[in-house]
Amino acid sequence: MINDWFWLLLPVAAASGWWVARRLHPEDQGDQEPSLHRYLEGVRYLLDDRTDDALQAFIEMVEVDHETFETHVILGRLFRRRGEVDRAIRIHQNLVARPSLKDEQRAQALNELGQDFLLAGVLDRAEAVFRELADSPHQAVPALKGLQHVYETQREWERAIEVGTRLKSHNVPNEHLRIAHYHCELATIALEHGDRTTASERSVHAEELVPGLSRALLIKSEIAEREDRIADAIAYGREAVARTPPLAPLVVPRLERLHQALPGENRLGQLEQTLEDLANSRGITVARIALMRLYRRTGRLDAALSELGMILSQRPVPTSGLLEAVRWMKILPAVQEYSVEFAAFEKALSDQLGSQHLYQCMNCGYQGRAHVWQCPSCRRWDTLRGLDFELDASTEEAEDALVREGTR
Ligand SMILES: [Zn+2]
Repeated sequence: MINDWFWLLLPVAAASGWWVARRLHPEDQGDQEPSLHRYLEGVRYLLDDRTDDALQAFIEMVEVDHETFETHVILGRLFRRRGEVDRAIRIHQNLVARPSLKDEQRAQALNELGQDFLLAGVLDRAEAVFRELADSPHQAVPALKGLQHVYETQREWERAIEVGTRLKSHNVPNEHLRIAHYHCELATIALEHGDRTTASERSVHAEELVPGLSRALLIKSEIAEREDRIADAIAYGREAVARTPPLAPLVVPRLERLHQALPGENRLGQLEQTLEDLANSRGITVARIALMRLYRRTGRLDAALSELGMILSQRPVPTSGLLEAVRWMKILPAVQEYSVEFAAFEKALSDQLGSQHLYQCMNCGYQGRAHVWQCPSCRRWDTLRGLDFELDASTEEAEDALVREGTR
């Protein structure tokens, strides 16, 4: 037996459409018998749980006017939200085929159909529908957003830029941030092919749209590293993490590696200064752990212990900090006779860290282990932030600055 209330919309819409037909075409009263027969047949299908037959019977007989049109649009949407995309497509295709629709209604039905195709993953059909709509006076913005979704999924960044630029001209907010990331995607592809010139041009375009965009700075850091300009590479990396401190899990290992490549005796001193700044001024745990490692490596055990104390005073205590502490403590002479226990402790923490999500989307709460620039769940750009460190006042200020930047 049917157990969803919204199936009842079907006979209501059909009956209402039938009365519309009666009102609009009183001369065709003789044709009402077959319609009534078909209607009752639909109700019988519904009662017998033959839902697809019922759907077909009802949508075939509907004459569309303003009320029945809205009912059908809503019904199609309900099916789409439940993941029953084939049924949504049938309803919306049936609507689009109706010659009696006004231009505005046809555009709305087409947009719904495009959304169905998007969800079904039939991207070429979604693209065709949205392309047709994008130039029409109705539904142009939803259609352009649909196209944007298609091109982002297909990673066709040039086309995504074109569509984003059109959306920007419609004053859609945050498009400049999206377009900047499309340029960054193209820069990354260029770098993969060894094309530093194109990568550089793209990062400039990105920074023109969003000045100080951390991702563009990281691309510039990468280009500088490839050109052996290590000091520049470090400077860009530092600027990136200063602008967006929660990206530290991504940037700190890179800064550690770059400092190793610096010529001269003072390279560890420079690294220390960078890490101290990130740990003390911005409260970034990843930097504090790296600092603790550095102190230990250079024989300053008291300083290392002091950093460890600060890590252990955090709530929650980051697993990565605990793991680093255990790895260090197990080699101290005083605990050698507990080496088995320490090894077990290390493995337990390592397993826990291996199963943890390391990044979270600030917009929708999605969590994942790898950093990606576009959230796979809500599709917003540059919303993933590192989870494993404390956020103090200074980083919250930086977050506010980022949000202001994103909404400008
Ligand atoms: Zn998200």
